[in-house]
Order: sequence, then C-alpha cells, then structure tokens
Amino acid sequence: MRDTVGLSDAIRNVEDVLARTHAPGREELEGILARAEALAGLQLDDSAALLAVDDPAQIELICSAAGRVKDAVFGPRVVLFAPLYLSNYCSNDCLYCGFRRSNTGGARKALTPEEAVEQARYLSSKGFKRLLLVAGENHGRHGVDYLVDVAGAIYAGTDIRILHVNCAPLTVDGFRRLKAAGYGVYQCFQETYHPDTYARMHPAGRKKDYMFRLSAMDRALEAGFGDVGIGALLGLYDYRYDVLATIAHSRHLAEVYGAAAHTISVPRLRHAEGAALADAPYPVTDQEFRKIVAVYRLSVPTAGVVVSTREPAELREDCLDIGASQISAGSSTEPGGYGAEEHAATQFDVSDLRELSEMIGVIARKGLLPSLCTSCYRSGRQGSDFHDAASSGAMRDLCTPNALLSLKEYAQDSAEGEVKGLCEEAVAKVAEGVEEPLRRDLMTKLARVQAGERDVHY
Ligand code: SAM
Ligand code: SF4
Repeated sequence: MRDTVGLSDAIRNVEDVLARTHAPGREELEGILARAEALAGLQLDDSAALLAVDDPAQIELICSAAGRVKDAVFGPRVVLFAPLYLSNYCSNDCLYCGFRRSNTGGARKALTPEEAVEQARYLSSKGFKRLLLVAGENHGRHGVDYLVDVAGAIYAGTDIRILHVNCAPLTVDGFRRLKAAGYGVYQCFQETYHPDTYARMHPAGRKKDYMFRLSAMDRALEAGFGDVGIGALLGLYDYRYDVLATIAHSRHLAEVYGAAAHTISVPRLRHAEGAALADAPYPVTDQEFRKIVAVYRLSVPTAGVVVSTREPAELREDCLDIGASQISAGSSTEPGGYGAEEHAATQFDVSDLRELSEMIGVIARKGLLPSLCTSCYRSGRQGSDFHDAASSGAMRDLCTPNALLSLKEYAQDSAEGEVKGLCEEAVAKVAEGVEEPLRRDLMTKLARVQAGERDVHY
C-alpha cells in the first residue's frame, strides 16, 4: 500500500490549524477568495479561515466566489444521478443509521441481481444513465461477489452507462474486482474524522476500525480506481474539524496520486427510523451548510460537490448557485423502493421528493444546464487526466457540449409536456453560444441524436 502515514499526519494537523485560525478581516478574506478564483485550490489555513467566517455578508462573498469557481471549472452544467439501494443488511451498528444491526424494526432486504436490473430499468426509463449503487456492509452474503454479479447484470440487461458504488471499504484485491466489474467511482464517507467521536458512533462491526476506513481510498486507488468520492456526515462532530479534515484528505490524495477527490459529498444527518441517535450532536444550520458547500468548492475546485435529497428543495436549489455541481433526484433509500408497493427499512428520510423531470425543469429555469452525461468514465478521462483538465478550465469546454447532447437525448426519450419544451429550448440556446469551430461539430452531433442515434458524446 502506498501512503497512509501521510494521511494520518494530515488529519492530526487539522486540530493545530483550527487552533491558530481566526475569522479573517475583509481584506484578508478578499485575498483568500482571489487565490481561490485562480482555481489552484486553497492551503488548509485559508480553508480554515473561510470556515471561521460567521458574518452573513462575508458568507455571501464566499458563496458568490464559489459560484464563479464552479462556473469556471464545469460551466453551467449540473449532473443528475440516482442512488440504487441494493441491500439493507448490515453487520455494523452506526448510531445514526436505520440499517444498523440492532434495529430490529424494519424489514431486511437484499435485491437479487434480477431485481437490481428491474430497479435500474425503472430508473433508466425515467432518463437516468448513471446510478450510484449503495449497500450495507455484509461481507458474507452481499460482499464483493454480489456487487460484481449485480454490476454484470445491470450492464448486460439495461442501457445504464455507468455504475458508481458506495459500499464498505474493501481490501486492495476486493477493489480490483469491483473495478474490473466496471464500477466508475468508489465512494465512501469517513463520517467523522475525529477519532473519539468515530469510536462512539461506530461501536460494533468492521466499521469500528477507524484506520481501515481512513485508508480505504489509498487501497481503492492502489487497485486501479481512478476516481474516488469522499465526505463527512455533518452533524456528528464540529463541522469545522470534519470539513477541514475532508479537504486535508483530498489534498493527501492529490499529493500522493496526482488527483484530488473526484467528488466530495455533503451528507447532513437526517432522522432515521430505528437509529440510536435522536438528534445531531452538532447540528449544522442551513446557513452553515451553504458555507460548507462553498468552502469545498473553493478549496477543491475540481471536485464534483454533491448535494443529495437529504436536503430540502429550496436549499438544494440555492446550492447550485454556490458551488454544488451534482445532485441526486427522485431518490429512494430503500432496497427495491422504486415503483414499489411494499416497503423495507429505509436508511434515512429523504427531504426533497421531486422526481428527475421536475428537477430538470427547475435547473433549466434557473438558466443552468441539466446533464445526464457519463462521458468521462468511458472516455478514459479519470484520475489525474480529469484533474488536470478540470484545473486548467478545459473541462468546461467538454462538459457543456456533453451536457447538451445528453439533454437532447433526454428530451427525445423521456421528457414530457412543458419539461420537453424547456429542454429543447435550453439546448438550442446554449448550443448557439458555443464558439466555432466546436459549434459546427456539436450541431452535427445534435442532429445525429435527433435522428435517433444514442450515446453520442465527446
Ligand atoms: N454501508 C456503507 C457505509 O457505511 O459506508 C455504505 C453505504 S451507507 C448506506 C451511505 C452513507 O449514508 C453513510 O456513509 C452515511 O454517511 C450516510 N448516512 C447513514 N445514516 C444517515 C442518516 N441518518 N442521515 C444522513 N445520512 C446518513
Ligand atoms: Fe451499515 Fe453503512 Fe448504515 Fe453504518 S452507515 S449501519 S455501515 S449501512
């Protein structure tokens, strides 16, 4: 295994950075934001200073700088995806989760590969082409073999183009097998980087082992995953510590493997039926949440910043203007939950219940560009290639045409009524603004989609 010693040191350093941090004055803040707008990311001291800001006017300056950085890196596109929950069997006992093993209340269910295919077909019929497979930790019956079988069945039996996965950390060999099965991004949240809090929150099962989880991304990268997604579950411990540690984690990945975290998720604790925690020990307000989204964007400009349906509708829409670049839609956190009449235990309650079509309408009306693109993972733009393209601003010129092609396809295959019109309008308007010589080629590709060709991309 390459380097996790550096990572533990980086996490230990977070306390020291926080201890010497103070909220910046106006001039200092402007200096930090100017450095962030150069798109090279921020030093930890700068990120910590931004996290120390409480003044509402200063928070707005941070948020608007984050909106500009997001636009410079990815353009107006907003990526949409859906989680597909495979199994709620779990051998761990995380205090906050409805899947914890000591919750005897809800029904347990693991989809068969055939059932997973049915769920994927349902999501594909709605227009999703990328899915995030999610599972509790159950190495006996639903370990690597199971995840490999499910991926094989979905790729063979549906037109889903890329599967990402959020599952418990594996060995290098386990990760190699997942990668070979065609998974794109490996995602896993540390939950909290604070060792004592981590120990309290995870009293049983393999997840008790803080270091095994902390080193998961090093093993995944060692095993050949180009892209990994990280995050801290907000509400378990002081957000300043956990957000800074997440940024430190990403910096470690960039230093050792040449690419920052591909995605940083911003999960915030929600009520979960059967969980042991009634309330968040360290609640995070909506205003703090906005600041966190913006600080991630400014600190790690190339990362996809992911805001899930855990968050309420209005806040999610706001986040799209201040740095978020990926959102889930129409989510169910229950295995077999899509289109189901009977219900198994959910992991937590979702807040934003809007379906994909509604979200596409909302994004288009905001003047942004809904994207169902899956191109990078299949064109080999991963790891350091993606990172380098994103930090030079070159991704913007790929994301915009690819978003347009995927939206055109969506308009033709899945959109109805007003949303169809909105999509066609957005495609025509944004394509018009693309500069030559790309525009001419894009128009040809759009015409190919119009004529029925599928999966046309750059
Ligand atoms: N079981 C694996 C694990 O723990 O890494 C993978 C999937 S777990 C189902 C996905 C994530 O959901 C967890 O990492 C955690 O951050 C989040 N989660 C769990 N309970 C939650 C809750 N009550 N509210 C919000 N997010 C929660
Ligand atoms: Fe299991 Fe993951 Fe839930 Fe913990 S968060 S109980 S590991 S499903």
